[in-house]
Amino acid sequence: MTITQSPLINPSLAHRKCDSLKFRTFGVESVLRRVNVAVLCENSTTFRRLVLENRDANTPIMLHGPTARQFDHLLWGLGVDSLPQPCDEEDLECLLDVEELSRHYSIHYLQIRAESTVVAVIAEGTNSAVLSCKTDSLVRMLRITIRVHNNTLFAFLMQMWTWRLHSKELDRTIAIRVAQPSRWDYDPQPFLKLLGHAFYAVMMELESKLSSGQRIDLSSHLTQAEMIHVRCGYHSLRSWWDQIASKPPVYTHSPQCMYPERCSYVWRIRFAWLAEKDKIPFPKVDGIRRLQEIHKFIAADLFLIKNMPETCRHSALQELLKRREHLLKTVHHHFDL
Ligand SMILES: [Zn+2]
Repeated sequence: MTITQSPLINPSLAHRKCDSLKFRTFGVESVLRRVNVAVLCENSTTFRRLVLENRDANTPIMLHGPTARQFDHLLWGLGVDSLPQPCDEEDLECLLDVEELSRHYSIHYLQIRAESTVVAVIAEGTNSAVLSCKTDSLVRMLRITIRVHNNTLFAFLMQMWTWRLHSKELDRTIAIRVAQPSRWDYDPQPFLKLLGHAFYAVMMELESKLSSGQRIDLSSHLTQAEMIHVRCGYHSLRSWWDQIASKPPVYTHSPQCMYPERCSYVWRIRFAWLAEKDKIPFPKVDGIRRLQEIHKFIAADLFLIKNMPETCRHSALQELLKRREHLLKTVHHHFDL
Protein backbone atom coordinates (compact mmCIF):
# COMPACT_ATOMS: atom_id res chain seq x y z
CA MET A 1 0.00 0.00 0.00
CA THR A 2 1.14 3.52 -0.69
CA ILE A 3 0.35 6.43 1.56
CA THR A 4 -0.04 9.72 -0.20
CA GLN A 5 -0.94 13.01 1.31
CA SER A 6 -4.11 14.31 -0.27
CA PRO A 7 -3.52 17.52 -2.23
CA LEU A 8 -6.73 18.76 -0.63
CA ILE A 9 -5.02 20.28 2.37
CA ASN A 10 -1.36 20.40 3.09
CA PRO A 11 -0.89 19.33 6.76
CA SER A 12 1.52 22.13 7.63
CA LEU A 13 -0.83 24.74 6.17
CA ALA A 14 -3.80 23.17 7.87
CA HIS A 15 -1.98 23.13 11.19
CA ARG A 16 -1.30 26.82 10.93
CA LYS A 17 -4.88 27.60 9.97
CA CYS A 18 -6.68 25.55 12.53
CA ASP A 19 -5.38 23.32 15.23
CA SER A 20 -8.57 21.37 15.41
CA LEU A 21 -8.22 19.99 11.90
CA LYS A 22 -7.93 16.24 11.99
CA PHE A 23 -6.30 14.06 9.41
CA ARG A 24 -7.44 10.53 8.85
CA THR A 25 -6.25 7.85 6.50
CA PHE A 26 -8.68 6.51 3.92
CA GLY A 27 -8.11 3.25 2.12
CA VAL A 28 -9.40 2.98 -1.43
CA GLU A 29 -8.46 -0.14 -3.38
CA SER A 30 -4.81 -0.63 -2.34
CA VAL A 31 -4.05 3.06 -1.92
CA LEU A 32 -4.06 5.04 1.33
CA ARG A 33 -4.81 8.75 1.40
CA ARG A 34 -4.31 11.15 4.33
CA VAL A 35 -7.24 13.51 4.20
CA ASN A 36 -8.45 16.44 6.27
CA VAL A 37 -11.70 15.00 7.57
CA ALA A 38 -12.91 18.39 8.81
CA VAL A 39 -13.49 19.40 5.21
CA LEU A 40 -15.21 16.12 4.36
CA CYS A 41 -17.39 16.06 7.50
CA GLU A 42 -18.41 19.66 7.11
CA ASN A 43 -19.87 18.92 3.67
CA SER A 44 -21.02 15.33 3.90
CA THR A 45 -23.24 13.53 6.38
CA THR A 46 -22.00 10.23 4.94
CA PHE A 47 -18.37 11.03 5.74
CA ARG A 48 -19.36 12.36 9.18
CA ARG A 49 -21.01 9.03 9.93
CA LEU A 50 -17.99 7.09 8.60
CA VAL A 51 -15.59 9.05 10.78
CA LEU A 52 -17.80 8.62 13.86
CA GLU A 53 -18.11 4.91 13.23
CA ASN A 54 -14.33 4.53 12.82
CA ARG A 55 -12.95 6.30 15.87
CA ASP A 56 -9.56 4.58 15.95
CA ALA A 57 -7.35 7.20 14.29
CA ASN A 58 -4.66 4.63 13.56
CA THR A 59 -6.89 2.42 11.45
CA PRO A 60 -7.62 3.49 7.87
CA ILE A 61 -11.25 4.07 6.96
CA MET A 62 -11.86 1.75 4.04
CA LEU A 63 -14.05 3.00 1.20
CA HIS A 64 -15.71 0.39 -0.99
CA GLY A 65 -17.04 1.23 -4.42
CA PRO A 66 -14.94 4.03 -5.89
CA THR A 67 -11.52 3.52 -7.39
CA ALA A 68 -8.52 5.36 -5.96
CA ARG A 69 -8.50 7.55 -9.07
CA GLN A 70 -12.16 8.45 -8.61
CA PHE A 71 -11.57 9.28 -4.96
CA ASP A 72 -8.68 11.53 -5.96
CA HIS A 73 -11.01 13.28 -8.40
CA LEU A 74 -13.50 13.87 -5.58
CA LEU A 75 -10.76 15.34 -3.37
CA TRP A 76 -9.69 17.53 -6.27
CA GLY A 77 -13.31 18.71 -6.72
CA LEU A 78 -13.51 19.59 -3.03
CA GLY A 79 -10.32 21.60 -3.28
CA VAL A 80 -11.08 23.85 -6.25
CA ASP A 81 -13.19 27.02 -6.24
CA SER A 82 -14.92 26.25 -9.52
CA LEU A 83 -15.07 23.23 -11.80
CA PRO A 84 -13.60 24.02 -15.21
CA GLN A 85 -15.24 22.83 -18.44
CA PRO A 86 -13.54 19.66 -19.71
CA CYS A 87 -11.02 19.94 -22.55
CA ASP A 88 -10.51 16.23 -23.19
CA GLU A 89 -11.76 12.78 -22.20
CA GLU A 90 -9.64 12.73 -19.05
CA ASP A 91 -11.16 16.02 -17.84
CA LEU A 92 -14.65 14.78 -18.67
CA GLU A 93 -14.16 11.53 -16.75
CA CYS A 94 -12.85 13.53 -13.79
CA LEU A 95 -15.90 15.81 -13.85
CA LEU A 96 -18.25 12.82 -14.07
CA ASP A 97 -16.42 11.15 -11.17
CA VAL A 98 -16.84 14.29 -9.07
CA GLU A 99 -20.56 14.38 -9.90
CA GLU A 100 -21.17 10.71 -9.13
CA LEU A 101 -19.09 10.49 -5.95
CA SER A 102 -20.37 13.76 -4.50
CA ARG A 103 -23.90 12.40 -5.04
CA HIS A 104 -22.92 9.06 -3.52
CA TYR A 105 -21.42 10.75 -0.44
CA SER A 106 -24.16 13.41 -0.20
CA ILE A 107 -21.89 16.39 -0.79
CA HIS A 108 -24.76 18.40 -2.15
CA TYR A 109 -23.12 21.70 -3.07
CA LEU A 110 -20.42 19.89 -5.09
CA GLN A 111 -22.92 17.55 -6.73
CA ILE A 112 -25.03 20.49 -7.92
CA ARG A 113 -21.94 22.30 -9.13
CA ALA A 114 -20.65 19.26 -11.05
CA GLU A 115 -24.08 18.42 -12.45
CA SER A 116 -24.65 21.94 -13.75
CA THR A 117 -21.17 21.97 -15.33
CA VAL A 118 -21.91 18.70 -17.14
CA VAL A 119 -25.32 19.96 -18.30
CA ALA A 120 -23.81 23.26 -19.51
CA VAL A 121 -21.04 21.54 -21.42
CA ILE A 122 -23.48 19.18 -23.20
CA ALA A 123 -25.80 22.10 -23.98
CA GLU A 124 -22.92 23.91 -25.65
CA GLY A 125 -23.18 21.25 -28.37
CA THR A 126 -19.64 21.86 -29.63
CA ASN A 127 -17.41 20.73 -26.77
CA SER A 128 -14.88 18.31 -28.27
CA ALA A 129 -14.59 16.30 -25.03
CA VAL A 130 -18.33 15.58 -25.21
CA LEU A 131 -18.49 15.00 -28.97
CA SER A 132 -15.58 12.55 -28.95
CA CYS A 133 -16.26 10.97 -25.55
CA LYS A 134 -15.98 7.26 -24.81
CA THR A 135 -19.13 5.14 -24.69
CA ASP A 136 -18.87 4.86 -20.93
CA SER A 137 -18.90 8.66 -20.53
CA LEU A 138 -21.81 8.89 -22.97
CA VAL A 139 -23.84 6.53 -20.77
CA ARG A 140 -22.92 8.51 -17.65
CA MET A 141 -23.98 11.79 -19.27
CA LEU A 142 -27.23 10.18 -20.43
CA ARG A 143 -28.00 9.27 -16.82
CA ILE A 144 -27.52 12.89 -15.75
CA THR A 145 -29.78 14.29 -18.50
CA ILE A 146 -32.44 11.75 -17.51
CA ARG A 147 -32.17 12.70 -13.85
CA VAL A 148 -32.46 16.43 -14.48
CA HIS A 149 -35.34 15.78 -16.96
CA ASN A 150 -33.61 17.67 -19.76
CA ASN A 151 -35.24 16.07 -22.80
CA THR A 152 -33.41 18.25 -25.32
CA LEU A 153 -29.97 17.21 -24.09
CA PHE A 154 -31.10 13.62 -23.68
CA ALA A 155 -32.22 13.59 -27.35
CA PHE A 156 -28.92 15.18 -28.39
CA LEU A 157 -26.89 12.43 -26.66
CA MET A 158 -29.18 9.74 -28.05
CA GLN A 159 -28.64 11.09 -31.55
CA MET A 160 -24.87 11.05 -30.98
CA TRP A 161 -25.19 7.43 -29.96
CA THR A 162 -27.36 6.51 -32.96
CA TRP A 163 -24.91 8.00 -35.45
CA ARG A 164 -22.01 6.28 -33.78
CA LEU A 165 -23.87 3.00 -34.24
CA HIS A 166 -24.40 3.64 -37.94
CA SER A 167 -20.83 4.78 -38.51
CA LYS A 168 -19.58 1.68 -36.65
CA GLU A 169 -17.68 3.83 -34.16
CA LEU A 170 -19.62 2.24 -31.37
CA ASP A 171 -20.19 -1.36 -30.43
CA ARG A 172 -23.85 -2.20 -31.03
CA THR A 173 -23.79 -4.79 -28.26
CA ILE A 174 -23.17 -2.13 -25.61
CA ALA A 175 -26.11 -0.16 -27.00
CA ILE A 176 -28.30 -3.28 -26.86
CA ARG A 177 -27.35 -3.91 -23.25
CA VAL A 178 -27.83 -0.28 -22.16
CA ALA A 179 -31.05 0.18 -24.07
CA GLN A 180 -32.88 -2.65 -22.36
CA PRO A 181 -35.73 -0.51 -21.01
CA SER A 182 -36.10 -2.49 -17.82
CA ARG A 183 -32.71 -1.23 -16.74
CA TRP A 184 -33.93 2.34 -16.61
CA ASP A 185 -36.51 3.84 -14.40
CA TYR A 186 -37.52 6.15 -17.18
CA ASP A 187 -39.66 6.50 -20.30
CA PRO A 188 -38.62 3.39 -22.28
CA GLN A 189 -39.47 4.94 -25.68
CA PRO A 190 -36.05 6.55 -26.37
CA PHE A 191 -34.32 3.34 -25.36
CA LEU A 192 -36.53 1.32 -27.70
CA LYS A 193 -35.45 3.66 -30.50
CA LEU A 194 -31.81 3.15 -29.58
CA LEU A 195 -32.38 -0.59 -29.46
CA GLY A 196 -33.98 -0.42 -32.93
CA HIS A 197 -30.91 1.34 -34.35
CA ALA A 198 -28.59 -1.14 -32.60
CA PHE A 199 -30.47 -4.05 -34.20
CA TYR A 200 -30.32 -2.20 -37.52
CA ALA A 201 -26.52 -2.05 -37.19
CA VAL A 202 -26.38 -5.78 -36.40
CA MET A 203 -28.67 -6.49 -39.36
CA MET A 204 -26.37 -4.58 -41.72
CA GLU A 205 -23.38 -6.54 -40.43
CA LEU A 206 -25.18 -9.81 -41.16
CA GLU A 207 -26.85 -8.60 -44.36
CA SER A 208 -25.00 -10.87 -46.82
CA LYS A 209 -25.86 -13.94 -44.75
CA LEU A 210 -29.46 -12.90 -44.24
CA SER A 211 -29.99 -12.18 -47.95
CA SER A 212 -28.45 -15.46 -49.10
CA GLY A 213 -30.25 -17.50 -46.45
CA GLN A 214 -27.00 -18.69 -44.90
CA ARG A 215 -26.95 -20.09 -41.42
CA ILE A 216 -26.00 -17.54 -38.82
CA ASP A 217 -24.03 -18.76 -35.85
CA LEU A 218 -25.24 -17.02 -32.80
CA SER A 219 -22.53 -14.63 -31.81
CA SER A 220 -21.72 -14.76 -28.12
CA HIS A 221 -23.01 -11.20 -27.84
CA LEU A 222 -26.55 -11.85 -29.04
CA THR A 223 -29.24 -14.04 -27.59
CA GLN A 224 -31.63 -16.18 -29.59
CA ALA A 225 -34.45 -13.74 -28.86
CA GLU A 226 -32.35 -10.80 -30.08
CA MET A 227 -31.57 -12.64 -33.32
CA ILE A 228 -35.30 -13.10 -33.89
CA HIS A 229 -35.71 -9.32 -33.62
CA VAL A 230 -32.91 -8.87 -36.17
CA ARG A 231 -34.50 -11.30 -38.65
CA CYS A 232 -37.85 -9.66 -38.13
CA GLY A 233 -36.33 -6.28 -38.98
CA TYR A 234 -34.63 -7.66 -42.07
CA HIS A 235 -37.87 -8.95 -43.61
CA SER A 236 -39.88 -5.92 -42.57
CA LEU A 237 -37.38 -3.42 -43.97
CA ARG A 238 -36.99 -5.43 -47.15
CA SER A 239 -40.70 -5.18 -47.93
CA TRP A 240 -40.74 -1.55 -46.72
CA TRP A 241 -38.20 -0.71 -49.41
CA ASP A 242 -40.27 -2.39 -52.15
CA GLN A 243 -43.19 -0.24 -51.08
CA ILE A 244 -41.09 2.93 -51.12
CA ALA A 245 -39.66 2.07 -54.53
CA SER A 246 -43.09 1.49 -56.04
CA LYS A 247 -44.62 4.65 -54.57
CA PRO A 248 -42.52 7.80 -55.03
CA PRO A 249 -43.31 10.49 -52.45
CA VAL A 250 -46.24 12.71 -53.44
CA TYR A 251 -45.57 16.44 -53.33
CA THR A 252 -47.57 19.65 -53.77
CA HIS A 253 -47.08 21.53 -57.03
CA SER A 254 -46.25 25.18 -56.92
CA PRO A 255 -48.78 27.68 -58.36
CA GLN A 256 -46.22 28.37 -61.10
CA CYS A 257 -46.23 24.73 -62.21
CA MET A 258 -47.76 24.85 -65.69
CA TYR A 259 -47.95 21.11 -66.35
CA PRO A 260 -48.46 19.29 -63.00
CA GLU A 261 -49.08 15.92 -64.65
CA ARG A 262 -45.90 16.11 -66.66
CA CYS A 263 -44.03 17.34 -63.56
CA SER A 264 -45.25 14.36 -61.50
CA TYR A 265 -44.50 11.96 -64.33
CA VAL A 266 -40.90 13.16 -64.63
CA TRP A 267 -40.44 12.82 -60.87
CA ARG A 268 -41.99 9.35 -60.76
CA ILE A 269 -39.91 7.83 -63.55
CA ARG A 270 -36.68 9.32 -62.23
CA PHE A 271 -37.38 8.12 -58.70
CA ALA A 272 -38.41 4.64 -59.87
CA TRP A 273 -35.33 4.37 -62.08
CA LEU A 274 -33.10 5.15 -59.12
CA ALA A 275 -34.96 3.14 -56.49
CA GLU A 276 -35.57 -0.06 -58.41
CA LYS A 277 -32.34 -0.42 -60.30
CA ASP A 278 -29.21 -1.18 -58.40
CA LYS A 279 -27.87 2.31 -58.85
CA ILE A 280 -27.39 2.81 -55.15
CA PRO A 281 -24.38 1.06 -53.62
CA PHE A 282 -26.28 -0.14 -50.55
CA PRO A 283 -28.46 -3.25 -50.05
CA LYS A 284 -32.20 -2.74 -50.46
CA VAL A 285 -32.74 -3.44 -46.79
CA ASP A 286 -30.57 -0.41 -45.88
CA GLY A 287 -33.38 2.11 -46.31
CA ILE A 288 -31.65 4.81 -44.24
CA ARG A 289 -28.60 5.01 -46.51
CA ARG A 290 -30.51 4.33 -49.75
CA LEU A 291 -32.87 7.26 -49.15
CA GLN A 292 -29.90 9.46 -48.28
CA GLU A 293 -28.15 8.48 -51.52
CA ILE A 294 -31.26 8.96 -53.64
CA HIS A 295 -31.74 12.42 -52.12
CA LYS A 296 -28.14 13.32 -52.86
CA PHE A 297 -28.41 12.07 -56.44
CA ILE A 298 -31.77 13.71 -57.18
CA ALA A 299 -30.73 17.04 -55.66
CA ALA A 300 -27.98 17.30 -58.26
CA ASP A 301 -29.80 15.57 -61.13
CA LEU A 302 -29.67 17.76 -64.25
CA PHE A 303 -32.60 15.90 -65.86
CA LEU A 304 -34.92 16.92 -63.02
CA ILE A 305 -33.42 20.42 -62.76
CA LYS A 306 -34.28 20.87 -66.43
CA ASN A 307 -37.73 19.27 -66.38
CA MET A 308 -39.29 20.26 -63.03
CA PRO A 309 -40.03 23.77 -61.73
CA GLU A 310 -37.62 24.65 -58.95
CA THR A 311 -40.31 24.88 -56.23
CA CYS A 312 -41.86 21.53 -57.19
CA ARG A 313 -38.45 19.86 -57.19
CA HIS A 314 -37.74 21.35 -53.78
CA SER A 315 -41.08 20.08 -52.39
CA ALA A 316 -40.46 16.61 -53.79
CA LEU A 317 -37.01 16.51 -52.19
CA GLN A 318 -38.49 17.63 -48.88
CA GLU A 319 -40.99 14.76 -49.04
CA LEU A 320 -38.11 12.38 -49.62
CA LEU A 321 -36.33 13.73 -46.55
CA LYS A 322 -39.53 13.31 -44.53
CA ARG A 323 -39.63 9.61 -45.46
CA ARG A 324 -36.09 9.18 -44.22
CA GLU A 325 -36.83 11.07 -41.01
CA HIS A 326 -39.89 8.91 -40.46
CA LEU A 327 -37.82 5.76 -40.91
CA LEU A 328 -35.18 7.03 -38.45
CA LYS A 329 -37.88 7.68 -35.87
CA THR A 330 -39.75 4.42 -36.33
CA VAL A 331 -36.99 1.95 -37.16
CA HIS A 332 -37.66 0.02 -33.92
CA HIS A 333 -41.14 -0.94 -35.17
CA HIS A 334 -39.54 -2.99 -37.96
CA PHE A 335 -37.70 -5.01 -35.32
CA ASP A 336 -40.92 -5.76 -33.49
CA LEU A 337 -40.03 -3.56 -30.52
ZN1 LIG B 1 -45.01 20.62 -60.41
